[in-house]
Amino acid sequence: VACGNEKKIEKIYVGTNAEFAPFEYLEDGKTVGFDMDLMAEISKEIGVEMEIKDMAFDGLLPALQAKKVDMIIAGMTATEERKKAVNFSETYYKANQVIITAEDAEDIPDFEGLKGKKVGVILGFTGDVVVSEIDGVEVKKYNAGYAAIMDLKEGKIDAVVLDGEPAKNFVKNNEGIKITSAEGEKEEYAMAVSKDNKELLEKVDSALITLKENGTYDKLLKKWF
Ligand code: GLN
Repeated sequence: VACGNEKKIEKIYVGTNAEFAPFEYLEDGKTVGFDMDLMAEISKEIGVEMEIKDMAFDGLLPALQAKKVDMIIAGMTATEERKKAVNFSETYYKANQVIITAEDAEDIPDFEGLKGKKVGVILGFTGDVVVSEIDGVEVKKYNAGYAAIMDLKEGKIDAVVLDGEPAKNFVKNNEGIKITSAEGEKEEYAMAVSKDNKELLEKVDSALITLKENGTYDKLLKKWF
């Protein structure tokens, strides 16, 4: 894992949480998705091998800090709080939180509308932070999105707050749920690198610029969204 300062980087370990389709998820035991393709292109561009390490989302930043992985790509929002602990690459995707409810529930036009409701969030996701800031919400925390969606379908909770793309994915694959018209603030997804690895961060950023310029990035967007 450790890459000496002057030594050439040969293999990088990349942390992710493969429960976030279409960015990263498991298919026949393999991690696939937009982030996985993007990361493969970035490592090709940098000229290193990469190995994906799948783990719980809230274990990603600790793993990076303990140098168990060299970087993270996980649909991770570059928040001010996380910036205290790690460095983030340039933004590679813009997203926002949405609210999922039962199909026959009344529309919730904004996040304040969650007041008085039982709301499922995923532990440590930005949606957790957003909902926890609203007074009078009964927050239920889950370890994974599908568990929250199951409880929603069974009527155990009133809503689930999640990033837009994975939310769309759940709604596509599950009957009886919908996305409301509420739109959360813009969030920027970026890759995380440890603070003492400026070298890797620079390489990742310049690879990202190249992929945006040569059309590869757009090709991946078309493929996955
Ligand atoms: N974008 C959200 C966050 O950063 C969710 C990320 C994820 O679940 N992979 O917390």
